[in-house]
Amino acid sequence: MIDNALVVLNSLSGKKEAFEPINPGHVGMYVCGPTVYSNVHLGNCRTFISFDLIYRYLKHLGYKVRYVRNITDAGHLENDEDTGEDRIAKKARIEKIEPMEVVQFYTVDFHQTLEKFNTLPPGIEPTATGHIIEQIELIKEILEAGYAYQVNGSVYFDVLKYNETHHYGKLSGRKIEDLIHNTRSLEGQSDKKNPQDFALWKKAEPQHIMRWPSPWSDGFPGWHLECTAMSTKYLGASFDIHGGGMDLKFPHHECEIAQSQAIHQQPPVKYWLHANMLTLNGKKMAKSTGNNILPMDIFTGNNDKFKKPYSPQVVRFFMLQAHYTSILDISEAALDAAEKGYHKMVKAVDQLSTIEPGEKEGDFDTDQWLKKCYAAMDDDFNSPSLIAQLFDAVNFINTILHKDHPIHKTQWETLHKMMNVFIHDVLGIAPEKKSNDATESKLNKTIELLIELRNKARVSKDFETSDQIRDQLMEYGIQLKDGKEGTQFTLH
Ligand code: AMP
Ligand code: ZN
Repeated sequence: MIDNALVVLNSLSGKKEAFEPINPGHVGMYVCGPTVYSNVHLGNCRTFISFDLIYRYLKHLGYKVRYVRNITDAGHLENDEDTGEDRIAKKARIEKIEPMEVVQFYTVDFHQTLEKFNTLPPGIEPTATGHIIEQIELIKEILEAGYAYQVNGSVYFDVLKYNETHHYGKLSGRKIEDLIHNTRSLEGQSDKKNPQDFALWKKAEPQHIMRWPSPWSDGFPGWHLECTAMSTKYLGASFDIHGGGMDLKFPHHECEIAQSQAIHQQPPVKYWLHANMLTLNGKKMAKSTGNNILPMDIFTGNNDKFKKPYSPQVVRFFMLQAHYTSILDISEAALDAAEKGYHKMVKAVDQLSTIEPGEKEGDFDTDQWLKKCYAAMDDDFNSPSLIAQLFDAVNFINTILHKDHPIHKTQWETLHKMMNVFIHDVLGIAPEKKSNDATESKLNKTIELLIELRNKARVSKDFETSDQIRDQLMEYGIQLKDGKEGTQFTLH
C-alpha cells in the first residue's frame, strides 16, 4: 500500500475526498483527448498539462498508473443536438483531402506540441475509429438493457427512461425538468423521441464520408460513446480517475455515466477530475470563436497578442502557477512575471550545485520544507502552493550565495535532490533548449531582411552589393533562389 495523504476534488460529490484507488497501488486514469480536425490551441494544452501534472505526481508517489487518453478521430457533430456535419469530414471536404489525412496531420501536430511542453505520453492512446466494433457492441448491450431505441437506422439513448431508475444530471448538477424545458425542440428535424435524448449511432446521409456498417445502418457512432467504449476496454467497467476540461462535464461526461451505468449497473468512475479553462481577454479560449492562440505562435513570437516570444517551459510554468481547478487568464504581464520567476528558480537550482556545503547548520528547516511540499501536492495537486515552497528554498539558496550564510551537508543533499525532483519530475519542467523556436524565428527574419536589402540594391543597379549579399550568404550555407514567388532561401 502506498502511504500518502492525497485528497482530490471529486466533481461528482463536489468535495475533496481521500484518494484510495480501487486496486491498491494501481491507478486507472482516462482523459478525454483532442478532436483532431484543427491545431490544438493553448487552452486545450492547459487541460493536457494539468493531467500531465496529476499523472506525474501519482507516478512519483509510487502508483502504477495506466493512463489512457484517446484521440477523437470520428463522430463529433457540429452541435449538441446531434445535427450538422462531422467536423473532420467537413475539413476534409473543404481541403479536398481524405478525412484520415486531416486526422493524421492534426494528430502529429498534437503530439509535437505536447512534446514541446514536456508532457509524458499516455500508456495507451486509442482512437475512436480503431474501436468501432467495441462501440457497436456497446450499443447492442444498451439496447438489450432497454435504455435505447432505434429509429430509421439511428439509435438513441432514452434519457427519460434511464432517469426513472437512475439520476441523469448527477455530475453536472442539471435537473432533468430543466433539461426538458430548455432543450430546443427539433420538430421534424430529428428522429429522437425527446430532445434531451442523445445519439449512440447515426445513420449517415449519402454525402457523409466517414461511415461504417452496423446492424442498424451504414453510419457512425455518437460523440459520447467512444470514451465509454475505450475506457471500459482498457480500464474496466469501474476505474479510478476520469479527467477532461470542465466544459466536458455536460453533456459528454454525464452521457458517459449514463451509458456505462445502463449496462454495468455500477458507477464507471470513482473520481471525476475536471480541469478549468484558460481564458484570453477574460473569455474562454475556443476553436469556434477564434478567441485563441496557438502554442507555436507563442513560442516563435509570431502573433498579434504578445510583443515577444515565450518558451514552452515558461508557458508551462505559467500554467502551473495556477491550480488546475481555477480559471487562468493569459496576459503579457502574467507571462513576463512567469518568465522572471522561472529564470530565478532555474538559476538558483543551477547555482546550488556549485555551493560547497559545510558542517554548520543553515537557517532553513529542510524536513519541514519537504513536508510542506508534499502537503501542497497532496492537497489536490496544488502546484501553485508547491511553487511557493520552491521559492522559499530559492530565497534560502540566495542568502547562502549573496549573504554568505552557511548550509549543512545534509541540508544541501535534501535541497539539491528534492528541488530537482519537484521541478523536473513532478512539475515536469525541462531545461530550456538553447536553440529554440524563437531563435529560429529571429534567424528567418534576419535572412528575410537581407533578401529585401539585396532586392533594393538590384533595383538601384547596385549589383556589387546584391552579389555580395548572395555570395556571402552562400558561404554561410544559406542559398537564395529567385523565382516567380519572389526570393526563397534554403539552409544547407
Ligand atoms: P476538444 O478537442 O475540443 O475536445 O478539446 C480537448 C480538451 O481541451 C478537452 O478536455 C476540453 O475540455 C479542453 N479545452 C477546450 N478549451 C479549453 C480552454 N479554453 N481551457 C482549458 N481546456 C480547454
Ligand atoms: Zn471523452
